[in-house]
Amino acid sequence: MKNLDDKPALRSQMIAARRAMTPAVKAQADARISDQLSRWLERHQVRMLGAYLPMPGEPDLSPLYPQLLARGIGLAMPVVLEKHHPLVFVRWQPGDAIARDASGTPAPTARGEYLQPDAVLAPCIGFTNDRLRLGFGGGYFDRTLAQSPRPRAVGIAYAFSRVAFAAEVHDIPLDVIITDEGCWPPDTGDDQP
Ligand code: ADP
Ligand code: MG
Repeated sequence: MKNLDDKPALRSQMIAARRAMTPAVKAQADARISDQLSRWLERHQVRMLGAYLPMPGEPDLSPLYPQLLARGIGLAMPVVLEKHHPLVFVRWQPGDAIARDASGTPAPTARGEYLQPDAVLAPCIGFTNDRLRLGFGGGYFDRTLAQSPRPRAVGIAYAFSRVAFAAEVHDIPLDVIITDEGCWPPDTGDDQP
């Protein structure tokens, strides 16, 4: 029987599942996630959003970013300045230069002011009913959310990647997960601002 507490095995399974999507299926799922996020942002007051530049296989929401800027929502991208440290966020707009950061993730090269986004998108390899995030195993979002004040954390995931694992002491639940099928837990929009 599968050990559902085995995060490395769950990561491999979920990465394989998303690799199995055809480009057309992935593009459709990504568009659905973008649409759900766009509607979530209409219901919640966010002036500065921590977004992300997708790694291969991750939902690609980048077509939405110019639309968010046009709506007056500022964008910031996470940067790993040093391994095993929390993320910092720097302002970004399409066209700004990108290079790999200390963790090997694409990030803006400019290092201006570090911003405090109102909400941050956290791409998930998997997520649980308790809103725990399965990431690549770096613990960067856990470290970032362990700080105070912490931004609202919006998981971004494919609906098929719902998994089960026990929380480790450092795992911090996200506030909501947005998938191609909607919000988890279902969003009432009554927690403004
Ligand atoms: P992920 O959340 O990326 O799936 P894990 O939850 O497995 O990854 O965490 C990976 C590592 O990050 C763990 O070994 C954990 O000890 C470390 N970590 C997570 N949060 C913190 C924290 N607040 N302080 C120090 N280390 C942390
Ligand atoms: Mg974790």
